[in-house]
Amino acid sequence: MKPQFSTDVLVVGGGVIGMSLAYGLVRHGQNVTVLDQGDDVFRAARGNFGLVWVQGKGLQDPAYARWTVESAAGWQSFASGLTAHSGVDVELSQIGGLRMSFSNEELSRRTLDMERIRLTIGDTYSYERLSAAEVRELLPEVGPEVAGAIFSPLDGHVSPLRLLRALVEAFIKLGGTLRTGESVERIDYRGGEFRTDATSASYLAGRVVLAAGLGNRALAPQLGLSAPVEPVRGQVLVTERMQPFLRYPTLHVRQTGEGVIQIGDSKEDVGFDEGTTVQELATIASNATRYFPLLANVNVVRAWGALRVMTPDGNPIYEESRSCPGAYLVTCHSGITLAAQHGGQIADWIRGAPKPLGINTFTADRFHVPTSDH
Ligand SMILES: Cc1cc2nc3c(=O)[nH]c(=O)nc-3n(C[C@H](O)[C@H](O)[C@H](O)COP(=O)(O)OP(=O)(O)OC[C@H]3O[C@@H](n4cnc5c(N)ncnc54)[C@H](O)[C@@H]3O)c2cc1C
Repeated sequence: MKPQFSTDVLVVGGGVIGMSLAYGLVRHGQNVTVLDQGDDVFRAARGNFGLVWVQGKGLQDPAYARWTVESAAGWQSFASGLTAHSGVDVELSQIGGLRMSFSNEELSRRTLDMERIRLTIGDTYSYERLSAAEVRELLPEVGPEVAGAIFSPLDGHVSPLRLLRALVEAFIKLGGTLRTGESVERIDYRGGEFRTDATSASYLAGRVVLAAGLGNRALAPQLGLSAPVEPVRGQVLVTERMQPFLRYPTLHVRQTGEGVIQIGDSKEDVGFDEGTTVQELATIASNATRYFPLLANVNVVRAWGALRVMTPDGNPIYEESRSCPGAYLVTCHSGITLAAQHGGQIADWIRGAPKPLGINTFTADRFHVPTSDH
């Protein structure tokens, strides 16, 4: 017989989304257990780029743009709370970021996109179109092929690995239980209670949150939910350490607190293949040297591929099951950017607060997918 544990809230998935939520819940005294399959499965949280990124998000949906802006605005306070609880500095810098263009046509297109978003959500969505000379004032090492950039003061970056570590440490210090090596295959709902037999123990819970990234796809239908998420691969390169030269992060190249340059990332539809390819890495490296010619003489020390968790329209799903009340699904493809919302308003909603009005449309109904096997 496996041992049996009871908890108020069971979070399935200890990636950045599950841990942000779990941290937000224990901060308010909830009894929370996180079950995580472990490092040998697909895990976007350990392979991502670390941007807290606003510009361009929500072009098709103002609700997503607003949600992202709010998260970016809440990141400073989220990070200081996290550092106070964990003792870990997540290296947040939010002094703005640039998306560079190689042609004026591309820059004009991006400017129009940014203006469309600003017109729908208002002046909080601030940005500037920078000429090549203006980019050079901010980033003197930029190459001659760069025609200009969009600068958004709302953008920034963090160390994604420090973030995950901070979330785990804060969660445990605040009394949460994290069980790794626990794979959840089946969850049952009976008499208002959820039960799962994981790898080494059984768990009973009053509420359950599915935050298992790509694993949500199989789990959600068991609780009357639907998670039509697909993997989209991104490849990333990391160089040796360099003297600081990149004060601002850009969408494709950023310098970390330790001085290494992180370069990425591709968007590839290759199923569950987490590998890297010489062809894609060569394209990424070649573009990086066009942005910053000094990178041509720098050694690459690491490369990896990781899978994004993507819904059909790229927007999040935040949904409580109608047939199994108390079961929630939380997934999105910008788990770093939205961590402040997940640790704040989404955790509050799971604690019993009304669902934030602005995200009522973020349910799987929009994909017209059957949602129940109950
Ligand atoms: C290359 C790349 C670059 C990115 N760059 C950025 C960026 O710059 N900014 C940004 O905001 N976002 C970025 N992202 C996206 C971000 O990393 C993801 O949104 C985020 O990691 C998703 O978190 P998650 O917790 O849902 O999933 P994951 O991190 O994949 O975690 C899911 C967890 O669930 C566990 N799990 C799965 N199935 C089960 C099961 N059956 N039982 C128990 N546990 C299970 C796994 O062990 C895993 O730990 C990037 C992603 C990639 C791949």
